[in-house]
Amino acid sequence: MSTFKYQWDLIHDPQSVLFAWLEDESEGEIKKLKGTYTVYVGDNIMTDKKVFINTIKTKKIYVKYEPAVGDTGKYINAKVVYRPVWSKTDISWPVTTWGKIDVNTKTYFGLDSLPEGRYMVLLKNRDDNVDTVNFYLRPKKYDFACSVCGRNLVLTGDELKQIFPNSEKINNPDVINAFNNAFRKSGFKTCNHFAHFLAQIKTESAGLTTTTEGSSYYLHRMLEVFRGNNGTKFWYNQSFLDDKKYLRFTAIRIYEKMDSAKFDYSVDSTDFETFTHKSTGSSIIVPKDYPSHSGHTTAFNGYKLTKGKGYYKAVTLSFQQKEDNGNRLLNAAYSGMNGNSSDTTMANAEGYKYRGRGFVQVTGKTNYLNAQNTCSSKFQLNYDFVNNPDLMKNDTIAVWASFAWFIKNIQISDLDTENPDVITYKVNAAGLEKESRRNNYNAIRQSIFKCNKP
Ligand SMILES: [Zn+2]
Repeated sequence: MSTFKYQWDLIHDPQSVLFAWLEDESEGEIKKLKGTYTVYVGDNIMTDKKVFINTIKTKKIYVKYEPAVGDTGKYINAKVVYRPVWSKTDISWPVTTWGKIDVNTKTYFGLDSLPEGRYMVLLKNRDDNVDTVNFYLRPKKYDFACSVCGRNLVLTGDELKQIFPNSEKINNPDVINAFNNAFRKSGFKTCNHFAHFLAQIKTESAGLTTTTEGSSYYLHRMLEVFRGNNGTKFWYNQSFLDDKKYLRFTAIRIYEKMDSAKFDYSVDSTDFETFTHKSTGSSIIVPKDYPSHSGHTTAFNGYKLTKGKGYYKAVTLSFQQKEDNGNRLLNAAYSGMNGNSSDTTMANAEGYKYRGRGFVQVTGKTNYLNAQNTCSSKFQLNYDFVNNPDLMKNDTIAVWASFAWFIKNIQISDLDTENPDVITYKVNAAGLEKESRRNNYNAIRQSIFKCNKP
């Protein structure tokens, strides 16, 4: 009895916030009816706190009560109380009394319409126990709407700019359209799905500023990034440094050790770093990072890394030498991977040819072929990426290729998770730049894609 009284008072007090789901409910305020009840909007079952996007205006709210075994009651009392967004007070249906609903019969409330707002369905059995189901209804306002909150999922240029503030690429209306069409054709359905995708490509494409994987590495960095790759085993050997083999792979911050001073790498471990190949376990010890060339003056004949530990001369490469070094580096790093040839000769190698492209870094011949096939089957776009990999340099095509890769490798239902790390490991098995991706995801979820629940 008290439960019912409590809610009744609230219903008639326009100053109070009726909806119990906004408050912390304590046990005992709501009594569990013995039978089973189900509340529907149309054919959709409502559960507590659900936000339901109502796509058909003529849908009604239904209740069905199935009594417990042994209960011979023929009916149950029911009422719906709602507060439309435009109203400051609650509306009750029936207005003052309770409706009488036959047991085991799906029965609707005779409301004229279901405006956007909060709804509470109350059910009272003959012992005066009352249960409630609370939910929120939103009409479907947009053609492409979040299935959780109803938000318009068509992105504007301004919204993309908010996500990718440093990108010039989204000034191109074709790129914006490609994003919107690709999201829809790929089956993205919620704010959360969008946030995962955008967070990943933001990291993969340096904030949507580049479509092509860089190939200019300094020694320290190349040893760190590719230590799990089979084609790089020969890098993790001291002769790679001592015999200056690295000069054919690095393209920036290059220093050549001068023979006049003996390089002693055992003296102080803090100035040196060891890199170990993941599968062979062999190691190389190299000076810990090299400064940029602007970090010292050329007047000094040779850069003195650390006193007493050898002298290094800055090496400057021509444009073509840099290209060739980057080419050799990626040919080694990606040889024999993802459908690429194991041959690393310039003429036959495929690592550089199928280096990361698109905004999600499609890498390797197999992935190029898959992206091509998915573009054709899902998007009805025919691009010969295998024979013309540079097609992905085009920003609009890069968008399509990125979605093609993504939906080939990740199920849309996987994107229901709210843990960005789960998706990070699907995009990048090593989890590289996990923090960056996580930060992107959190920022996007807190700004544009809050997935606003009332
Ligand atoms: Zn949403």
